[in-house]
Amino acid sequence: MPELPDVEGFRRTLVSCAQGHRIEQVEVFDPGVLREVTTERLKRELEGRRFAAPRRHGKWLIAPVEGPAGGPVGEPTLILHFGMTGGLVCRSEGDPPERFGRVVLTLDDGHQLRYHDQRKLRGLWLATTEADVDRILGAQGPDALTLGRGELDTLLEGRRGRVKATLTDQSVVAGLGNLLGDEILWRARVHPKSRTGDLGPDERRRLHTALRGVLRTSVRAGRVPPRPSWLTGHRDDPDPHCPRCGRPLRRGKIAGRTSAWCPRCQPERS
Ligand SMILES: [Zn+2]
Repeated sequence: MPELPDVEGFRRTLVSCAQGHRIEQVEVFDPGVLREVTTERLKRELEGRRFAAPRRHGKWLIAPVEGPAGGPVGEPTLILHFGMTGGLVCRSEGDPPERFGRVVLTLDDGHQLRYHDQRKLRGLWLATTEADVDRILGAQGPDALTLGRGELDTLLEGRRGRVKATLTDQSVVAGLGNLLGDEILWRARVHPKSRTGDLGPDERRRLHTALRGVLRTSVRAGRVPPRPSWLTGHRDDPDPHCPRCGRPLRRGKIAGRTSAWCPRCQPERS
């Protein structure tokens, strides 16, 4: 499932493939990914315009285009969310189509930006104002990549619920999903079911250190890498063991998602 590092990778793809280039043609192969916009309007608004610098917030990619004839940047703005299975790739015209290709933007140099998504849970929006962008994104906490230690402390302090649910709630911290949440908690030695408001200063400090470290490596890789020394490298093994202490990992549902943790490294608070 695309999380912050994957979407950061898609942002880099958009920059290297399309930024500054004119969009020659918009092709929608499956309008099931279009949200609040028709194929006709998407073509009318985007064709002939150039991509400006895209930005990312949490798991959202925000791609403004330049207005016609040097008009204002950001009107309109293409907004992409990748749901559980989506992605963005740069190809050349004539390359074989993606298996679940839904929308293809052909650029003035013959490259194509291709949005693919098997399950189509989210998709593409077209915002016309900054207020529109905010409305489409909905309640978003600060982006996890920019989160300072004091800021994280403030977000966690006195909050109800389990820490795994808190960390992966986009309205609290934007960008962390199931894999990052588990990896950060494992590295910080915090049980995913710990009550967020009960965490002490030491646990909160470890969480921030783990968050920084896990994100730094993952953003570079463009995904949460399944390294042998990481929980992510073992959570899907048939008989998964903790790469730190060798104990069998536990699995269970927390906040509706299957979590993995080490019962020895992440003891449950009584
Ligand atoms: Zn362990």
